[in-house]
Formats: sequence, C-alpha cells, structure tokens
Amino acid sequence: MGLLDKLKPHKPQPKPIDLGFDGEGNLVVRWDDGKESKFAPRWLRARCPCAECVEEWSGNRVVGDAQVAEGVKPRGMQQVGRYAIQIQWSDQHSTGIYSWDYLLKLRDEP
Ligand SMILES: [Zn+2]
Repeated sequence: MGLLDKLKPHKPQPKPIDLGFDGEGNLVVRWDDGKESKFAPRWLRARCPCAECVEEWSGNRVVGDAQVAEGVKPRGMQQVGRYAIQIQWSDQHSTGIYSWDYLLKLRDEP
C-alpha cells in the first residue's frame, strides 16, 4: 500500500472492450472484467436516457416500454468520445447517448 493507493479510493469501473449488434439487433457488450451483456433492442430503446425520453426537470420517463413500438431495431451506432455510444433506432430516434456508466447500470437490471 503506497500513497498512490490511498489517493485512489475508487476501484476503476468496468469498461466495454468490444460492443456491437448481433443478427437480431441485440447490443452485445464485452466488458474488461470478463462479463458479457446482451441488451434486447426494444428494451434498450425504452431505456433511452435523452431529454426527449426522460423529462429533465423531474427525471420522469416519458418514453418507455409502453411507448416504444414492437420490433424497433438499431440502424447504427457511433462512438461518442471515449465514454459513450449514440444509437440510431429504426423509429427515427437517435438522440440517446448511452454512456459506459449507464450501460453498466443497465447491465445489473434483470
Ligand atoms: Zn431518447
């Protein structure tokens, strides 16, 4: 235990080492802690964190499971900086930025 260990109280968060869509449109994330997550497209779309889907001032979700159409698929994604991806969905929605932190939170949801 040196001084540096004391200055870094938090363990580094797991980060994706690889992510992409499979044939069914699931987002598959491989993490640097050895885990792998698979997010179903409609489920993930219904958890879009953008200001159109979640009211900024209240934090209430406006677009969720009930509003997202069946069969919505990802059309593409772009990396945003070194911490997030932005997904273009087949329902023309593309403002959602999914950060590593957010995906990590979703990873632990059932
Ligand atoms: Zn959104």
